[in-house]
Amino acid sequence: MYNVKFYKGDYRTRQNKANMDDADAYVEHHFNSSSSATASYALVVTGSNASPTSKNWGRWYAKAVATFFRTKVGGDNGILVGGWNGRGDGNIKHTKMPAILLEPLFASNPQHADIIRSKRGQTDLARILVESIQRFFPDGGLIAFSVGHKYKESNLNDRGAALVGGGSEADYAEEVLKIAAVMLEAVDHAALSRSIRVVHGDNVLFETEVDEDALVVWDPERGLLNIQG
Ligand SMILES: [Zn+2]
Repeated sequence: MYNVKFYKGDYRTRQNKANMDDADAYVEHHFNSSSSATASYALVVTGSNASPTSKNWGRWYAKAVATFFRTKVGGDNGILVGGWNGRGDGNIKHTKMPAILLEPLFASNPQHADIIRSKRGQTDLARILVESIQRFFPDGGLIAFSVGHKYKESNLNDRGAALVGGGSEADYAEEVLKIAAVMLEAVDHAALSRSIRVVHGDNVLFETEVDEDALVVWDPERGLLNIQG
């Protein structure tokens, strides 16, 4: 259903290659960084020429990351169209397919850095990315992955921001994408219809499909998830 291909080279080259392969979606993975150790939000950069699909996909991903890691979304409801005064725009705006540049957590935030370094955190981020791809590209296809900073012919030593406590942005972004690639290529069924899951770590304790129109209400006082309709 899904094939994943990693693209390397300078950013423009990667995008051209993905265009030639007729990829269906393009993801470049980064981590954010700030001079403030407490900066904490999930953000997606889209190209200045982004389609509604790219914007909606980016917002969905940023919201899912913020909810899961109990932080907030940055930018305009989770996205920054055209990057930081143009920075990041050229990484994705040359694609002919929907494209997003991920900045889910901060390398400069000690709590985030611990999550980024952990297999648990990498797997959680990969799963959110995979679910976002399943949601926005339900018919499968070729998914292009790009590791931010790494493998640029013009700057082979670039690894992006240093994580507080050790490690580099690009190496961990690559780990997340590798996990996501394995997950995506293991998807053996058609698009998920609407489903409800109860999960504990990697264990799915309960899963059921619900009607697309059903109203689902979580009552934390009663510990009750009520499916209406
Ligand atoms: Zn970066």
